Amino acid sequence: MISGFTDIHCHGGGGFSFSDPNPQHVAKALAMHRSHGTTTQIASLVTEPLDLLKSQIENLIPFVLDGSIAGIHLEGPYLSSAKCGAHNPKLLREPKLDEIKELIEVGQGHIRMVTIAPELPGALAAIKLLRSLDVTVALGHSNATAEEAHPAIAAGATIVTHMFNALPKLDHRIATITNALLINPDIYFELVLDGVHVIHSAVELLLKVAPRSNHSHHGCNVGCGRQRWRLFNWRFTSQGSRWRRDPSIKWFPCGKYINHGFGIQSPGQ
Ligand SMILES: [Zn+2]
Ligand SMILES: [Zn+2]
Repeated sequence: MISGFTDIHCHGGGGFSFSDPNPQHVAKALAMHRSHGTTTQIASLVTEPLDLLKSQIENLIPFVLDGSIAGIHLEGPYLSSAKCGAHNPKLLREPKLDEIKELIEVGQGHIRMVTIAPELPGALAAIKLLRSLDVTVALGHSNATAEEAHPAIAAGATIVTHMFNALPKLDHRIATITNALLINPDIYFELVLDGVHVIHSAVELLLKVAPRSNHSHHGCNVGCGRQRWRLFNWRFTSQGSRWRRDPSIKWFPCGKYINHGFGIQSPGQ
């Protein structure tokens, strides 16, 4: 017997995206996650033009109100173009307080997390504003130095979006945001724990650095390869590709991976 999974970063599943304007498609994505053991789901939205993002937020609100999702995560548009990953670099923006207030208002209190690159002009004020509105701030898709990251953590950022991915490497000569995150005892780490995006030894390192993070905040994108393919029309192969288009990546195997691969038990197990 294991407890249900809490997924704090996911864009869809079963071939459907949480950005989809068709509520039946969103419901199918949620049903796929539930069938694989996810009992608490945050729905993540990627970088989009602001008006489209607002309509995507509005479309998700009924799912929050009926209890199907626990909240909304905005992964962008306040990200670094140097580490944009799958986000369209042309749509990335510098954080502006009025704009953020509008997005939060459209979300009617249901935007629970926003990912921000702390080196962007205006990022610190944005982090303080979000914290004052009780929104969790994640750092990610960032090329920041440690000097830029520390004030963001002091301002209230508490979690990192897919640690190691879309971030500079841990460096022994230049203090990067990755260095800053690893040495800060108050940061929670979210990982794409599929054995592909982060190799086993990197997870082991993280578990030694932050042994308490894994229980409350381990993340894995169910069917993410397929969903990304739908969104961005990228091609995937199982070899030599950055992303593995593999619909067999599901929560339960990921749960097994953390349980058996690292000797860690899920909470309640
Ligand atoms: Zn994402
Ligand atoms: Zn990302």
